[in-house]
Amino acid sequence: MDCIFCKIVKGDIPCHKIGENDDFLCFLDINPISKGHALIVPKRHFKDVMEFPKELDEGYFAFAQDMAAKIVQAVAADGFNLGMNNGEAAGQVVMHQHTHIIPRFDGDGLAAWPPQEVSQDELLALKEKILKA
Ligand code: AMP
Repeated sequence: MDCIFCKIVKGDIPCHKIGENDDFLCFLDINPISKGHALIVPKRHFKDVMEFPKELDEGYFAFAQDMAAKIVQAVAADGFNLGMNNGEAAGQVVMHQHTHIIPRFDGDGLAAWPPQEVSQDELLALKEKILKA
């Protein structure tokens, strides 16, 4: 399989590694959105979060918390986004599951997603649909 993150995990292509354990790797993003932008990847290949085994959830989240704390301290961030794109429609470009840690700074001006208007009827219909799914 021609997967760039698998190659990084194997050491076939270089990365700026900032953390690692048996299951996960954390390295700096090559095109950072902000100073300290990093990625967390599972060492095994999973396409996205839907393929990710639930038994690894706790370790993954704990690793993300630890890495976010270190990054925030190192770059003196005021906050951070923890984000995951799943599927092309959501902006996923690398098809090996990963989570972005994006440090944020007061007044950094990074755009937020625009909220949409929605009626109570629409919310109710949507809720029923999701509850039945
Ligand atoms: P996504 O849109 O969620 O799939 O994001 C993929 C991310 O991987 C982007 O932020 C890229 O900048 C980053 N990326 C791609 N190749 C590399 C690489 N070789 N080293 C570090 N980050 C990379």
